[in-house]
This record gives sequence, C-alpha cells and structure tokens, in this order.
Amino acid sequence: MLVVMQQDATSEDIRRVVKVIEDMGYQARPIPGEQRMAIGVVGNDGPVDSARAEGLPGVQEVISVSSPYKLVSREWKKDDTLIPLFNGTVIGGNRTVVMAGPCGVEDEAQLLETAEAVALAGATILRGGAFKPRTSPYSYQGMGIEGLKLLAKARDRYQLAIITEAIDLESLDAVEEYADIIQIGARNMQNFSLLRRAGRAKKPVMLKRGLSATLKEWLLAAEYILAEGNEQVIMCERGVRSFETYTRNMVDINAIPVIKQLSHLPIIADPSHGTGRRELVAPIARAAVAAGADGIMVEVHRDPTTAKSDGPQSLYPEQFRAMMADLHRISDVMGKPLTASLNARGH
Ligand code: PEP
Ligand code: MN
Repeated sequence: MLVVMQQDATSEDIRRVVKVIEDMGYQARPIPGEQRMAIGVVGNDGPVDSARAEGLPGVQEVISVSSPYKLVSREWKKDDTLIPLFNGTVIGGNRTVVMAGPCGVEDEAQLLETAEAVALAGATILRGGAFKPRTSPYSYQGMGIEGLKLLAKARDRYQLAIITEAIDLESLDAVEEYADIIQIGARNMQNFSLLRRAGRAKKPVMLKRGLSATLKEWLLAAEYILAEGNEQVIMCERGVRSFETYTRNMVDINAIPVIKQLSHLPIIADPSHGTGRRELVAPIARAAVAAGADGIMVEVHRDPTTAKSDGPQSLYPEQFRAMMADLHRISDVMGKPLTASLNARGH
C-alpha cells in the first residue's frame, strides 16, 4: 500500500499517517517526491486495510500495491532508478552503459592490459572477479584481496568504475571497501543473509538472475536488498538453464522489457554467461540493447586462449571494439546513447 499525500500536507499530517501505519503493525517508508510526499507501507504479506489511512487529513489517495514485491515495483516508484558512479557514468534512465573485463583477475599485466583495451573502446565500468564462485572446487578460485587491489589500480589508471563479485559475507566486506559496484552472482541470488548484508552496504549492488529463477523470485531477491535500505540495485539477466546444450544458458530477452515494466530498477544483460560462446556475444548484446536493456556486461580478455576461467566466451579486444561500434548505433536508435569513456578513440 502507498499513501499519497496532498501537495500541501503538513509534517503533522505526515506524522499522523506514519503513526497509523505503525499502529497497524507495519513499517512506514516516507518517499519524498518532486510534487508531493508518499508514504509506503512495508512488512505486510497480504492486503492491508486501507480504510484507516484514507480518511486522514492531508491524504490524497491510497494506492494498493498488488505485487508481492513492493520497493522494487513500478507501482511504488514510477521513475527509473539512476545509479551515478564516480566517473560520470550513470546506470539507468536514458543512457546505455557497458561493463567489460575479464571473467577473473589473474595478474597485473592481464588486468591492466585488458582494462586499457576496454577503456579505449569506450567501456566505463571494468568487471573482473577476485572471488570466483566455481562449479568445481578444483577450478580457479580467484586472487582474493590481491585481485581487489589490482582492480583499484586499474580504476585509478583508466578512470573505470569497478564491479566485482562478493561470494559470501566475508568477501562482501572487502568488495564493499574496494569496488564501486558489488556483484551478487547467479549462484547466490537466494542467499538471503548475503542479500541482507548487501542491503546494508554503502555501494550499489548488481544482482544476477539465478540459474533457474523466475522473474518473481528474482525481484523478491532484489526486494531483500531494498528492504534493508539500499535502493541502488541493478538487475542482471545472465541467461537461465534450458534444455538446449549448444549454448551454456539461454538469454531470456523477454525478461528485459518485463523487468522494465514491473520495476524501476535498471537492467543489464550479460551475453557472455548467457551464451557461453564468444561468437554469440555481440549478436545477443545487440538484441538486448534493442530490447531496452540499460547496459551490457561482457567478458573480454587480452588473450582468451590463456584465460583461467571462461576463455571460450571471452571476447578478443578487437571483437569488443567491433561490438561497441554496433552498440553505439543501436543505442542511438533506442534513444539511450552509449556512455563512452573519455579514453575512447574517436569519441
Ligand atoms: C561472473 O559474472 O563472472 C559470474 C560468475 O556470473 P554468474 O554469477 O552469472 O554465473
Ligand atoms: Mn565468468
């Protein structure tokens, strides 16, 4: 339920509404707007009796929020959520952003050379896992804190914002300290204690869709983060499990317009994990931008043949450059121009 106050409602009117909501056993979340204040009701599982709020002084209308998720819903907040980063990049709204970099941070030269290549091609956000959630315990697990330090070095050198994954509570503390965006991976989408901790973090969070999560489960997972107070959340469609074996996953293009319709949160597509094959990354990236995605996350490696993880889906730098040229044109057509790095050649 959302209580919309009249434009001239007094702070006393607002206090009264908050008290009534609290007396009913729920929490009140004041949402200041440009025109007027709204007060959201959270903590309820089912319908709330709106009658008590409706007649109060200063109340314009009471809107019932029909979805099981509230804070993430468009009913709750009509305007797109914007996520500004230190280098001028803004995620969400009327622009398209690109996050690129290796699957994992492997060593200084690998990271810095790849970072330079993606920055020159126009990416403004560098990805790279320092803590890797691997299916096999014998696969490359990442460099840990040393990897985070290398990411910070790349940020300083190329003015790239950093996104990197936290796989548990301990790594989240470290990632929060070093990164600009905390990534929660597909395998942790329903790790509710991790989601709650991310909700208390002071940095934006990108929540990847679980391997076989429905859109409702995914939005409810995001709700955990917002419910703890962190409203800077980005959704990431990275493909779901399907019966098909040719590709690693199946990118759910449907999810892009659906999430935009149901939620105010920005949505990024990850065609690297979504396809598992580098020759499919650019076509699916183009499709995602055409479907209205707010950005793309792709894996790029200076030499994918030597990558310690996800080499087959990692782009060569020149493939990344070609993809960026296409995304420039498609994002212009969509009215959401690509945010390009100042380092980019020709821009
Ligand atoms: C990743 O981005 O490197 C990753 C592990 O992705 P996902 O959680 O989507 O599998
Ligand atoms: Mn990967």
